Amino acid sequence: MQVCVLGAGTMGHGIAQVTAMAGHDVRLRDIEMEYVESGLDAIRSNLDGGVERDKLTQEEADAAFDRIEGYTDLAEAVSGVALVIEAVPEDIDIKRETFEDVEEHAAADAVVASNTSSLSVTEVASVLSDPSRAVGLHFFNPVHIMGLVEVVVAEQTSEETLSFAREFVADIDKTAVEVTDSPGFASSRLGVALGCEAMRMVEEGVASAEDIDAAMELGYRHPMGPLKLTDVVGLDVRLDILEYLREELGERFRPPQVLKRKVRAGNLGKKSGEGFYVWEDGEAVRPADEGGR
Ligand code: NAD
Repeated sequence: MQVCVLGAGTMGHGIAQVTAMAGHDVRLRDIEMEYVESGLDAIRSNLDGGVERDKLTQEEADAAFDRIEGYTDLAEAVSGVALVIEAVPEDIDIKRETFEDVEEHAAADAVVASNTSSLSVTEVASVLSDPSRAVGLHFFNPVHIMGLVEVVVAEQTSEETLSFAREFVADIDKTAVEVTDSPGFASSRLGVALGCEAMRMVEEGVASAEDIDAAMELGYRHPMGPLKLTDVVGLDVRLDILEYLREELGERFRPPQVLKRKVRAGNLGKKSGEGFYVWEDGEAVRPADEGGR
């Protein structure tokens, strides 16, 4: 099958890689050739890493890489493909324009998928004259490692599109969970709720950030506690999601003061060097003074 991935950034290059590894021909498109090249470089380096770790043979890695072709022209990239997956920036206007462009240049029966992590797929799909062929395919970062894809069923998604999406996810060796299009889908909504309660517990002095994380890691077998995970995701990113969920779902998603304070101070987590922990060389080395309690 021919698949086009729009956007060669963090998610787009990963989606292109796993699709090619499943034997499909992939067209990877971005707005500038330098972005396409850097996506292709990242794929090459992931595949080489896989060979080093005996996940695949050199021949398999080379064959997968050869199945990916880079494009900047959207019309060329989408023409004749069976599936288009957009992984362009998380902005409703860019997503809608992208869907309009796809409609103009792709086959009328191509399935059009969005990798949005929070926007309404129903709203994005509504620009299509046949929105029944739209669906959400929400991948997780890093795509070549994470086994989950949320299949987001928009208001207009047809049964045929849904089964196509499910089959595609199985084919690329991922596990699909089916979610009705709603704010935060399943994963973000639950993940953010847990993080939010953990932050309130820090504020109330129930326990230190380290102890709350240890409780979830050791007591519930979470690979990473909710506060460390907040640091990894980015406190600003979590705040944006919370504000959106509060607007859509109500006060239970009201952002905690401690989160707002840290974001205002520029303490955004791992990427800025401090959030609920202090980070050095990509590792959490100690709890942040204020985050401890
Ligand atoms: P990114 O910024 O790394 O990549 C986006 C790419 O799209 C860039 O290379 C950019 O040049 C390109 N682009 C910009 N405007 C474009 C346009 N008009 N047409 C085509 N390409 C354009 O972003 P990302 O992290 O890969 O996120 C992409 C999508 O995936 C977003 O909707 C995001 O919410 C979603 N998502 C991200 C993650 C994550 O952890 N990063 C996880 C799940 C879903």
